[in-house]
Amino acid sequence: TQIDRAQHHSEGPLYADLAGDLNVSFEFFPPKTEKMEEQLWSAIETLTPLAPKFVSVTYGAGGSTRERTHNTVARIARETPLAAAAHLTCVAASKAEIDEVADAYWEAGVRHIVALRGDPPEAGTAFQPHPDGYKGAAELVEGLRKRHDFEISVAAYPETHPEAQSAQSDIDNLKRKIDAGATRAITQFFFEADSFFRFRDTVAAAGIDAEIIPGIMPVSNFAAVQRMSAMCNTDVPAWMGRLFDGLDQHPAARQLVSATLAAELCRNLYMGGVRDFHFYTLNRAELSYAICHLLGLRPQVAAELMA
Ligand code: FAD
Repeated sequence: TQIDRAQHHSEGPLYADLAGDLNVSFEFFPPKTEKMEEQLWSAIETLTPLAPKFVSVTYGAGGSTRERTHNTVARIARETPLAAAAHLTCVAASKAEIDEVADAYWEAGVRHIVALRGDPPEAGTAFQPHPDGYKGAAELVEGLRKRHDFEISVAAYPETHPEAQSAQSDIDNLKRKIDAGATRAITQFFFEADSFFRFRDTVAAAGIDAEIIPGIMPVSNFAAVQRMSAMCNTDVPAWMGRLFDGLDQHPAARQLVSATLAAELCRNLYMGGVRDFHFYTLNRAELSYAICHLLGLRPQVAAELMA
């Protein structure tokens, strides 16, 4: 009908018209077992042809994955054409120890650090800086900058970090991290595009001109995402619960619903001018690959990747 068509137009082009003019990045976690290692490398192999701007590897709570994060990042740097970024946190380590980790990355040819405060090893307890440690991400960025010419990304929270005194103080903190030398912020995951747009406006009004890249979490396990969201202050809209309701025994249908929702979120962000997307892959490629494909991104040939 006329009305249907008018509505479509007001929402912008459908997937068929999206140009694939995206920059994507993918986040992985360091594998614990051989089987997980295989899964990670299979995901990296699948996603590499999409020519991500960078891929990053997380750092476990309390520095528990220090070696594994290093080994994974160093192997990506050595064996793939990808730019590898290492997450690094301030938890349970002195400045000297953290500086040593950073030096080892620099020596391994890694030029990009995602600098974070981190969470205490025991969930629910308050963060206590190490007596000789960095007190938060802003100090860490400053410390890293003094040592090496790293590209530095930091975290940002469209729905405000749970420990922040206020939304404004959280933005002030983001500004300190950028002023200390970070070049971009990657956001915590969120499920409504408006959350991101409101945050982008507030950030711009605060005079922050660094890139703010939305972190996209495709939901493969709704119960797990609900738990994570509660911990990190992310709103899970009631409509999402209704959409996953009744799918516990239907994993394939759940994947389809999940891909659809995440693609819809990305499409809304795209319509609002977003061209950079960071995917929390949880070491699985398919959902992220499908979403990138829907947004028009296509694999590059090997020669282009190496160029
Ligand atoms: P900070 O920027 O230091 O902020 C922490 C809190 O302190 C905020 O509430 C801030 O508002 C407040 N604050 C800071 N300075 C001040 C001040 N001067 N006055 C008042 N308030 C202040 N965690 C991991 O353990 N490993 C990872 O690999 C990891 N990767 C992540 C990747 C992304 C993209 C994101 C979004 C998060 C990641 N996290 C990771 C989680 C992160 O470590 C936690 O969210 C942590 O609680 C905060 O880290 P931050 O770097 O944002 O801290």
